[in-house]
Amino acid sequence: MSIDPLAWIDDELSLLDDRRLLRHRTARDGPQAAELLIDGRKILNFTSNDYLGLATDHRVIEAAKQCMQEEAWGSGASPLVTGYAASHRQLESELAEFEGTAAALLFSSGFAANVGAITTLVGRGDVIFSDERNHASIIDGCRLSGARVQIYPHRDADYLEKMIQQAAGFRRRLIVTDSLFSMDGDLARLVEVVNLAERYGAMLMVDEAHATGVFGEKGRGLAEHFGVEDRVQIRVGTLSKALGCAGGFVVGSQRLIDWLVNRARVYIFSTAQPAASAAAAQASLGIVRDEPQRRTRLLIKSGQVRRQLQQQGWNVGESESQIIPIIVGNPKETMELAGKLREKDLWVPGIRPPSVPEGRSLLRISLSYAHTDEMIESLLQTLAGMAK
Ligand code: PMP
Repeated sequence: MSIDPLAWIDDELSLLDDRRLLRHRTARDGPQAAELLIDGRKILNFTSNDYLGLATDHRVIEAAKQCMQEEAWGSGASPLVTGYAASHRQLESELAEFEGTAAALLFSSGFAANVGAITTLVGRGDVIFSDERNHASIIDGCRLSGARVQIYPHRDADYLEKMIQQAAGFRRRLIVTDSLFSMDGDLARLVEVVNLAERYGAMLMVDEAHATGVFGEKGRGLAEHFGVEDRVQIRVGTLSKALGCAGGFVVGSQRLIDWLVNRARVYIFSTAQPAASAAAAQASLGIVRDEPQRRTRLLIKSGQVRRQLQQQGWNVGESESQIIPIIVGNPKETMELAGKLREKDLWVPGIRPPSVPEGRSLLRISLSYAHTDEMIESLLQTLAGMAK
């Protein structure tokens, strides 16, 4: 009898199941919108990062359609060969203008942008200072870079300073942080971090994935909101969240972008995203620029929802954004609450380790401009009935 070399996977999966950590996927039938269709049932969607409701905007869809009719869908090759289309170049130039930087580089995902940037900025002999709650793509970029990684406690600028002071003998130093933390909805102390980077001559990279299009007068993100955008040399953003599209980008100086084009392996050795995807993102960017009322309304609503949840007795942590956690603690209770909401046709995802630290399982409410007042009221009323 032959041995099954993959049998260990069954054991691992049942271990995950025992700990209520097994993950399942649900396929929706209709579009990704504020209301979803799943197994013939309508369900309110509080899971999405489509914060401005642009994924279903007809202008975005039309731009993609038109480009697709003029070009093929697949781009066929790496951007360094023939994968780079005029719409990619145009989007990069519009992104640079939108962000107020000299240049921009488009990646096929935000994950790739983070990994690509970190691994080309530092390597063996260098050191990275990384917030303990940074996104998985930052963590993986750090690991892959080969640099020494020093993790500082969440948003603790004093600790970060001590770490920097004690880290001697490294060639280059990089501080990296999310600006808006994706699970807790809280904000990095960017002013303090920028001051430290300047004081100690360290490179600074900020991932604005969840803040692009939402924060800042022009929608550039939290660096703009805190007035430090010109002091962050490496800014990462996504097209996949508030812009309702797909892809990620890095903005900064021309020399930074030239270096990434020459050295970022995830960029060089990966097929460019479809040209139509870039065309859609251009349309989205135009809407973000021209319709600031979307982000203003979203942030006002978010503040109201946070306050009401607190009044109901829920712990929303330190959220200051459209991402509102209800911190429960253990995965079992979290999944039970998520299950009860689901029975009432409200989809709020339960988030468990490893997406959050042990003991910090939470329900992640993600608000969008696309939610009507009635939709939000329905969520709040149901949660009020479930509060202890
Ligand atoms: N950075 C952060 C903070 C994120 O939350 C995410 C995705 N959840 C990414 C980067 C990756 O972006 P993308 O989904 O476009 O790959």
